[in-house]
Amino acid sequence: MEAIRWYSDPQNCIDAVAALRWPHGKPTCPKCGVAEGERKHYWLKTQRRWKCYSCRKQFSVKGDTIFEDSPLGLDIWLTALWMLRNCKNGVSSYEVARATGVSQKSAWHLLQRLRLVLKDLKPAKVEHGPAEIDEVFVGPVPSKMHRSRRLRMKVGGHGGDNKIAVLGMLDRETRQVRAKLIPEVTREVLQDEIFRHIERGATIYTDGHMGYDRLRLNGFVHETVTHIEEYVRGSVHTQGIENFWSLLKRTLKGTYVAVEPFHLSRYVDEQVFRFNNRINHNDGTRFAKALAQVAGRRLTWNDLTGKEDPKDSIPF
Ligand SMILES: [Zn+2]
Repeated sequence: MEAIRWYSDPQNCIDAVAALRWPHGKPTCPKCGVAEGERKHYWLKTQRRWKCYSCRKQFSVKGDTIFEDSPLGLDIWLTALWMLRNCKNGVSSYEVARATGVSQKSAWHLLQRLRLVLKDLKPAKVEHGPAEIDEVFVGPVPSKMHRSRRLRMKVGGHGGDNKIAVLGMLDRETRQVRAKLIPEVTREVLQDEIFRHIERGATIYTDGHMGYDRLRLNGFVHETVTHIEEYVRGSVHTQGIENFWSLLKRTLKGTYVAVEPFHLSRYVDEQVFRFNNRINHNDGTRFAKALAQVAGRRLTWNDLTGKEDPKDSIPF
């Protein structure tokens, strides 16, 4: 609540974004690149913009960021970002709409845009191990869906075929996670991911899934736990990565009740960020890290939707 009140003041928002964009404290014109020095840019108070003393063009703190071209104020963007980053189980577009006063549809687009930019540019490395590796299926529960949606998504009574597989790897030393959607749970796909991300010779813990059965032949130290007989055998377990799955599932169930497959990877990325940044951060530093990532990037309609044509877009 304190954060929401703070970011309802437009000047606080401008100061926060300016501090991240220009850490030296000198607003820099994005058009000609001239920073304040001996001479100051003119501050146009009512428009909350600067006029460049050199090229005479106007610029705002939103220029060249994902906030540019958005009719929504920074107060709304930053409030949504705060909620997205610091609500432990995620936040829904309805909650953001209530807190900021925009429509639920605008809030939904706003959150999707933020999620896309927040995708960690440098994903966590899980290369030396020891690593826990596991896969999980997530997807809609057809019995809880409205009939029309069930028909539209073509899911049957039990919905097994409509579930999507996610592969996760946890580095036991750094406690960092990588997770991504995979097309199918086969030996080829699983081993390809492992070969790509983990060094030969590393120790890997998995369950007894067939897809992992040739890791020893490929130079890994491979320990498995058979869930039918045992869950933990000394250090041989996969409870770290399973802990991540339960957090992911809680977020999807509790908050994002209606995730379509197309958007799932963004929610997985969001949960990875939350997991990998859960220690050594408080609400303030976590927000600052997210804002630093957001402030420096632009985003096209293409990036957001994978579509060329913004005609049927909802302005936000
Ligand atoms: Zn200029």
